[in-house]
Amino acid sequence: MTLREQSADLPATSALEHVLLTPGPTPIHPEAMKALTRVMLGHMDPEVFKMNSAIQHDLRVMYGTEPEAFTALLAGTGSLGMEAGFANLVEKGDDILVCTNGSFGRRMAEMAARYGANVRLVTAPLGEAINPADVAAHLDGVQMVAVVHGETSTGVLNPVPEIAEIVRHSGALLTVDAVTTAGMEPFYMQDWEVDYAYTGAQKCLSAPPGLAPIAVSERAFARYAARKTPTPLWYCDFEGLRDYWIEHTYHHTIPVNLHFAFEAALRAALEEGLPNRQQRVRQMGRAIVTSLAPLGFSHYVKREQDRLPTVLALRLPEGFDDAGVRAELRKREISVTGGLGPTAGVIWRLGLMGESARPAPYRALMMALEDILGADGLMRRYEAALEAQGL
Ligand SMILES: *Cc1c(COP(=O)(O)O)cnc(C)c1O
Repeated sequence: MTLREQSADLPATSALEHVLLTPGPTPIHPEAMKALTRVMLGHMDPEVFKMNSAIQHDLRVMYGTEPEAFTALLAGTGSLGMEAGFANLVEKGDDILVCTNGSFGRRMAEMAARYGANVRLVTAPLGEAINPADVAAHLDGVQMVAVVHGETSTGVLNPVPEIAEIVRHSGALLTVDAVTTAGMEPFYMQDWEVDYAYTGAQKCLSAPPGLAPIAVSERAFARYAARKTPTPLWYCDFEGLRDYWIEHTYHHTIPVNLHFAFEAALRAALEEGLPNRQQRVRQMGRAIVTSLAPLGFSHYVKREQDRLPTVLALRLPEGFDDAGVRAELRKREISVTGGLGPTAGVIWRLGLMGESARPAPYRALMMALEDILGADGLMRRYEAALEAQGL
């Protein structure tokens, strides 16, 4: 009996097998799944503090920070990581420059404004990366620059190393949204001199949603320490986080079980090796594009260097029934995400983060598409493309 048959008496939404190809959340890593069932411990347990130290160490490796950088997990999703940065590092009246070439950049701008910042925007046409020269042109008097590394809404990779080079000489802090990059794409917090970075557990690390791993530079801590007013967000106040993560005193109850799963997922990522993960994403991306191109799918992001490898944005073929095909896929327990706002009905955004960047889940997609679209030869093309990529 297959898992699917065993679950036949459950409603469809409880199916035991589901192919999650969304740009987050991603399928949970098997080691993380196992860790979720560990016996519960208290948040002040010595074993939990030991685990937290191991997580902090592994996060420094993942983000490429200096050895003194503060790392921690926030009890919330990636957006809490974003909000905590602005809450702790922005004060009323600060001038903040936000790069906004997609919906997550706009979310950053909105948050910065809510914490009292005067927000300056640098934008780029949809599907294009931010031009570092535009950042340079608006940098005068700015206390912080904020940029999304991989813009999930359009599949665009912003040139963070080049932007960082410009910001470095200005004295401004640099906040980077690393949600679709850290753990899967090159990310060098120390070399680039990034001051605050965050991601979400359910993206590149394939851990359950509900944790936001953050990294804070010493420079950012100094800025925080010089605040004239306390951080308005008590729950994520850097000092409160330090009390728990370093001094081991109570601040709030951390979600211990999520920490178990996160520790296992992060360990598995580092054991696989970050360069191997970068290679895996690229090989999978090429195999998928090679397979789908004859059906009329093409890269949405025109310039190759602007393409985010972990979120493959593909323009749909002429006359393609986006909603209809995705509904058919969902009936077969396959989730695919379309565009957002102006790109709705125009693109698909295929997730290649963490465990979704594997041959098997995309084999399920190709098999289903061959059937739904009557696309003879799609499976054969996919298998050949995988082989050509050495997968
Ligand atoms: C998913 C995502 C977020 C927000 O994360 P949530 O976990 O949904 O709160 C922020 N930035 C980017 C680039 C993302 O892809």
